Amino acid sequence: MVDDAHGIGVLGRGRGTLAHFGIASERVVYMATLGKALGGYGAFVTGAPEVVEWLMQRARPYVFSTALPPAAAAAASAALAIVAAEPDRIERLHANIAAFREALALAGIAGSSPTAIQPVLVGDPIRAVSLSARLRERGHLVPAIRPPTVPAGTSRLRVSLTSEHSAAQVASLVRDLAEALAT
Ligand SMILES: *Cc1c(COP(=O)(O)O)cnc(C)c1O
Repeated sequence: MVDDAHGIGVLGRGRGTLAHFGIASERVVYMATLGKALGGYGAFVTGAPEVVEWLMQRARPYVFSTALPPAAAAAASAALAIVAAEPDRIERLHANIAAFREALALAGIAGSSPTAIQPVLVGDPIRAVSLSARLRERGHLVPAIRPPTVPAGTSRLRVSLTSEHSAAQVASLVRDLAEALAT
């Protein structure tokens, strides 16, 4: 079972983690969200027809929820078409990811991921919230992620990079991050 919330639209030329690793198998149950790189709302599961049918009949959050609104489905469909047709967006995103990781390493800050979503481990939830507030004062929207979203003791800042951030924005974020972490 692959939860590809951070991979879809980003890795494998936008086709996700399975494409990135060259994996194609009917035995994989692939789940991804429409709410991150694709900029919409909702999520989907793909897999063997029997698995999909079983989920449709038995998955309680699916059975007892209203279906995705048509506008959200249309937005997801349009987003997938953009991912396929405009690979330069993914290239710009990866340039920003590389620049962020390089600057982070130079600043001696641990962490960093090959995806757009970069966790900076802080540990203490109160400190994570105050670091997030400091960054907000400097014009950076970097939420603090705390339990129960992550295990206790692993509160973190979550940086979300996009293809539309400028090199200067990425550099100033890392500068302000390093300064905040040093206090
Ligand atoms: C964001 C996220 C989800 C859920 O995303 P939704 O927007 O609620 O569909 C699931 N798994 C991981 C790993 C995520 O980061």
